[in-house]
Amino acid sequence: MSKKFEVTILGVNSAFPVHGRHPSCQIVNFAERLYMIDCGEAAQIQVAKYKVKRNKLDHIFISHMHGDHCYGLPGLLTSFALGGRTEPLFLHGPTGIKKFIDVIIEVSGAYMPYDLNIKEYDTETCNNIPLTSNLKVTTFPMKHRIPTMGFRFQEIITGYNINPTKIKEYDLSIDEIKAVKSGGNLKRLDLVIDNSDLIISPSNPRSYSYCSDTVYDLELVPYILDSSLLYHETTYLSGLETIAGERFHTTLGQAINIAQRSNIDNMIIGHYSSRYPDVNVFLDEGLPLYSGLKLGIEGSTYEV
Ligand SMILES: [Zn+2]
Ligand SMILES: [Zn+2]
Repeated sequence: MSKKFEVTILGVNSAFPVHGRHPSCQIVNFAERLYMIDCGEAAQIQVAKYKVKRNKLDHIFISHMHGDHCYGLPGLLTSFALGGRTEPLFLHGPTGIKKFIDVIIEVSGAYMPYDLNIKEYDTETCNNIPLTSNLKVTTFPMKHRIPTMGFRFQEIITGYNINPTKIKEYDLSIDEIKAVKSGGNLKRLDLVIDNSDLIISPSNPRSYSYCSDTVYDLELVPYILDSSLLYHETTYLSGLETIAGERFHTTLGQAINIAQRSNIDNMIIGHYSSRYPDVNVFLDEGLPLYSGLKLGIEGSTYEV
């Protein structure tokens, strides 16, 4: 059975909280460990509201330092401290995030009883961040008004699953099972059985790509290619390409084009402009063009 791999949206509005929506924040659950992506102002309120298990959250990824993606950090990090957290926490973000956090901790006299490991990345290049033996994150460059990166959460499938009927058929010994599981062929006196005849072919590794604030950018395609699920910002409906370009954001039609060119069948959208009180207009426009469109809704969970 494959491991749990899903995304819960906690914040989905652009700029400020309005229409009952909040700035960007998501939780990735992979095998019951949680990873936060962006930490908009309402993050800790949403974490409480949707009962996110804080003790399973060890890594936070920040795409860029615009307030609607990181102003939730001071409250969340100091609440961890007040809650008596002792487990280390890893905060991954662009250059500048360490200064931002250090100043807040210093001027507010916050006591941090846990190790806060802040890792800054060059947003102009890709960076590999190993998380577990089955999951890694790769950052990739995005084009926005300030240095910005996207994240690809990539499942890693290790080892081979042996077909149980073949164990019986060939009466495999423990050593033979070990050899087949590590990719070897079965060698008997007068025959060699190819490994591929003995294993259950592994399912395709799943991946979730997160494209934070960005201008319409076809250079993203190779970084997110073949993802099982994509999040791409859609600040505006189609027709507002000029405004979107000027503000380094994307329209729905442009995001759909990116998903289709990247061979991605499922896309969550969000970062809606405050000009849209009802975001169902995004579904009305997008679904006829792209059947895998999923409206990002706070509190909703999407399988990768
Ligand atoms: Zn934003
Ligand atoms: Zn931004």
